[in-house]
Amino acid sequence: MNKRSVRSLDMSGMAGQRALVRVDYNVPLDEAGCVADAARIEATLPTLRLLLAAGVRPVLLSHLGRPGGHIVPEESLRPVAVALEELLGAPVHFLASTDTELALETSLALREGEVLLLENTRFLPGETANEEALGTRLARLGDFYINDAFGTTHREHASVVGTPAHMEPAVAGLLVEAELKALARVREAPDRPFVVAFGGAKILDKISLIESFLVRAETILIGGAMANTFFAAMGRPTGESLVEHDAVETAASFLARAPERLVLPDDVVVGRPGEDADGSRVVAADAIPANLAAYDIGPKARDRFSAAISGAGTFFWNGPMGWFEVAGYAEGTRAVSRAAVAAAEAGAFTVVGGGDSARAIREAGLADRVSHVSTGGGASLEYLAHGTLPGLEALDDA
Ligand code: ADP
Ligand code: MG
Repeated sequence: MNKRSVRSLDMSGMAGQRALVRVDYNVPLDEAGCVADAARIEATLPTLRLLLAAGVRPVLLSHLGRPGGHIVPEESLRPVAVALEELLGAPVHFLASTDTELALETSLALREGEVLLLENTRFLPGETANEEALGTRLARLGDFYINDAFGTTHREHASVVGTPAHMEPAVAGLLVEAELKALARVREAPDRPFVVAFGGAKILDKISLIESFLVRAETILIGGAMANTFFAAMGRPTGESLVEHDAVETAASFLARAPERLVLPDDVVVGRPGEDADGSRVVAADAIPANLAAYDIGPKARDRFSAAISGAGTFFWNGPMGWFEVAGYAEGTRAVSRAAVAAAEAGAFTVVGGGDSARAIREAGLADRVSHVSTGGGASLEYLAHGTLPGLEALDDA
């Protein structure tokens, strides 16, 4: 890594300082408003423990959801503070205010051994537009800066890019360091064949990033709603399936450029739009009925994808193969999880990236049987495509 790590700091003289730590606590909440999956919180504990052990006072910034620059009570970070306190075993104060002056006073009053979590950065106008004035205001909340928000490091937002530009030192946290180590191995020296699988629903965010794999990966498996967009690009009927119309042209250009590398599902599981999987059935991928939606890859596709993955030297996976939250549409995602484990156990370097794909492999109980599970979806893809991220550029060089 060519960026300075928190481990390079001599912490012996830093007791009492405030570390402004950008974390990514954009976690799913359940119906009761509690944290439904704490993996992204757990992933930051090593950095927080390192700081607390040195007597450094952590002040945490994170976003949650997409509130769009104003206060949305359902997207408050308060439940995250509760979960963090329990996982960390140290007092976590939560400031339920977006007043940065009050945040400054509260940060200065923070006691050693305690943590301060500030309210959702995306409640602040100017965060996603990376407003200069907001970046400098946030920079006063710490004596130095740590980016441990790997999943957000591809965003040119004030707390990720603007704030560290005004702080010294500005370093990578332990999570970011570990993520980069695994992804750099995939990027710089993949053992062949290099197989990738893309799925999920954030198609516009991700499709252009697939481009770099057209020349680097031997096999690109496409499932999930991503596949529907490719079907549309092939002129096939997609019924009520989720299709990203603004991405169809891009998908068509990829098909024209690398037809032998792109592998689409031969069959899909279709069902009634927005309903449970009762009455779902398997159809050929070019025969999706007009009144139904494709919600998973079919059995032939599962076999073909699994065979390709099991034979990989390096495997990278982003995005579930279907609407896996619904029983009956989870088989494709499960098959890819199992194939990723088979590949890893046969010696392949296997990395799973993406909030939902990571959750899927964890829920299958297989997360510790692959080489690395990334906390970032878009961020991991963007790093693999470009070899850097905006939030990394804002940190001190090693
Ligand atoms: P990740 O978080 O792994 O990067 P995304 O956020 O892009 O993945 O997409 C995950 C979402 O995609 C899941 O909620 C899943 O239900 C949805 N999804 C995947 N395939 C389909 C499909 N065929 N139709 C509708 N939703 C889908
Ligand atoms: Mg997601």
